[in-house]
Amino acid sequence: MANNFSIAIHGGAGTILRSTMTPELQTQYEAGLRDALDTGYNILASGGSSLDAVEAAVVKLEDFPLFNAGKGAVFNNVGGHEMDAAIMSGKGLEAGAACGISHVKNPVKLARAIMDHSEHVILCGAGAEQFARTQNLAFEDDAYFYMEQRYQQWQEALKEDKVQLDHSDKKFGTVGAVAFDLQGNLAAATSTGGMTNKKFGRIGDSPVPGAGTYANNSTCAISCTGHGELFLRCVVAYDISCLMEYKGLSLKEACDVVVYDKLVKIGGEGGLIAIDKLGNIEMPFNSDGMYRACRNSAGRNEISIYRE
Ligand code: ASP
Repeated sequence: MANNFSIAIHGGAGTILRSTMTPELQTQYEAGLRDALDTGYNILASGGSSLDAVEAAVVKLEDFPLFNAGKGAVFNNVGGHEMDAAIMSGKGLEAGAACGISHVKNPVKLARAIMDHSEHVILCGAGAEQFARTQNLAFEDDAYFYMEQRYQQWQEALKEDKVQLDHSDKKFGTVGAVAFDLQGNLAAATSTGGMTNKKFGRIGDSPVPGAGTYANNSTCAISCTGHGELFLRCVVAYDISCLMEYKGLSLKEACDVVVYDKLVKIGGEGGLIAIDKLGNIEMPFNSDGMYRACRNSAGRNEISIYRE
């Protein structure tokens, strides 16, 4: 048992600048973050599990149209939406992930169902969607996922035939949550639409346990956002856990090594949210900004976007 609890969430990292933000838009982003944060926090405050808290917070972020996940997922090269999501429990290292899925309203719910009700860790594409139907998960048609701004973003990328990371062009994506509950259990969840104009079934770090998502009660829970290919190559989330487990680093020290040194050396732009086994929160990023928020039972309560 623990006598404290905490949660952190993100809505993506990248070239997020005050100069390109309007006050109205900023208010909308903050409202989206606050809604998700409060949802997860209330679950923890009433004695609920960290797994339920991260799932519920990510559902809120997936339903919020401005983030690149669920409803706001970016367009792929053929004008569709292929989403990736993962969830992991720090207690028994159980994990579930779905990748390259279309039309599933809340990919994180599918990841949770894969963890809880299948004998597998990762399901992809049509098979994952077939499994989602056996779990009675909600599906939506193309119209639900259509967002004019995302469509224009895809048209631009298509013209230049480039695969565009949401971050690289002042457009940001991916959502995630990490939490520590009163039972002392850690959990992490991440959900994304990936990259605009992506081709060939591209999968990033988000749904890969150990890369974009990881939870282990003996160390920490992590959810990443950034250039997926580089985060995969750095095995970011597990590397932070390993630095804590094998080298005895604190959460902050381990995050600093990976986010500000190892990732930077190979050009990996982005950030992450992290909570350790005592409930301490870190939200480091090496990009211009990261939509982020955290709240704990000791009274810390913040919502931030830019580098201060
Ligand atoms: N990491 C995600 C991916 O590469 C993108 C993001 O975080 O915005 O799919």
